[in-house]
Amino acid sequence: MRNLIKQIYSDSDQCDLLLGVVDAVDGLTTHFDREYVKQCELGKRDYRELYQAMADNGLLGLGIPEQYGGMGGGVTAAVLLSDLLGQKGLASLSQILSAFSRHAILMHGTEEQIQSYVVPTITGQKSFCIMATEPDAGTNTFAITSRAKKEGDVWLLNGQKTFITQADTADYGLVITRTEESQGGDKRTAGISLFVLDMKSKGIERQKLNISLGRSEDTQWHVFFDDVELPHDALVGSEGKGMAVMFDALNPERFLVAALALGFSEFVLNKTLDYVKQRAPFGKPTGSYQAIQHPLANNRIHLDAARLMLYQGTKIYDTGGEA
Ligand SMILES: Cc1cc2nc3c(=O)[nH]c(=O)nc-3n(C[C@H](O)[C@H](O)[C@H](O)COP(=O)(O)OP(=O)(O)OC[C@H]3O[C@@H](n4cnc5c(N)ncnc54)[C@H](O)[C@@H]3O)c2cc1C
Repeated sequence: MRNLIKQIYSDSDQCDLLLGVVDAVDGLTTHFDREYVKQCELGKRDYRELYQAMADNGLLGLGIPEQYGGMGGGVTAAVLLSDLLGQKGLASLSQILSAFSRHAILMHGTEEQIQSYVVPTITGQKSFCIMATEPDAGTNTFAITSRAKKEGDVWLLNGQKTFITQADTADYGLVITRTEESQGGDKRTAGISLFVLDMKSKGIERQKLNISLGRSEDTQWHVFFDDVELPHDALVGSEGKGMAVMFDALNPERFLVAALALGFSEFVLNKTLDYVKQRAPFGKPTGSYQAIQHPLANNRIHLDAARLMLYQGTKIYDTGGEA
């Protein structure tokens, strides 16, 4: 990783910070490993331990400008953290949910919103879930029908979200909803607004989905809103013009999810390499046969190419280009 960072970022003032992230994660993962994950699943340890250790090492502040008490480094630094944790088999959705939700608030929120919602995520005190998907609106977010209507000084939110990760434990939800009905066609992007929702608000009901990602903390939920009150200052950005706000959460999400998948693939490849070097059912390790070597070499090539593309992409994104 160090070589890749030096190659892509040698001309950038981010280089030293990113190399520091590699060192910090190396230090952290001497205390947290796959055995730790197993212990968490057995209920003997808690995933919060790792989360808190990341906060204590400043890692939850990656991507947050220093003026707010963060470490800076843009989306790239948060992506690197996700990739490195994945490589150790430690990445989880909880680590990235707050990272991309708060990015939209950083880009479009008021100073008060940044102080209230973003800053407490740096210490791990508060966390976010994101609420975009609805039963009839997945890939096509513009098809959402949940609705926030203005009633005097507040908004009343009604509708349903689904597949919401950590809707049970998150303190805040970044809700993508409509403040105007869709007019369809070219105007389908109008009328979308984003709000920060206090997940303890009255009128929220949750139902757990019966799916498992292999980590008990990464649960998914149906979430129902029945006249849930959103204060006037919960709106992020301008009313009805939430598309740009939304993509400043969803675009970092794509990088972060890619990093998580890539890091974890690296972990799996390394495990496989260890296995084929020692497993020898007919006397020779299975890894000495080309039929095993070639697909593994192909995997190596694909992962390296994907990683180069990922970090080129985050570099372009962080410098304001079209990634
Ligand atoms: C584990 C997990 C966690 C999740 N967590 C969250 C969360 O925290 N918050 C949240 O809001 N959502 C979450 N989601 C939902 C996720 O964002 C949606 O599943 C995703 O947006 C796809 O929506 P869909 O499942 O409705 O698929 P659909 O939109 O119905 O798409 C089905 C398939 O058709 C393909 N497709 C769609 N349109 C086209 C097209 N025009 N051309 C070609 N192919 C097309 C899609 O790529 C997909 O393969 C989560 C999902 C999962 C599985």
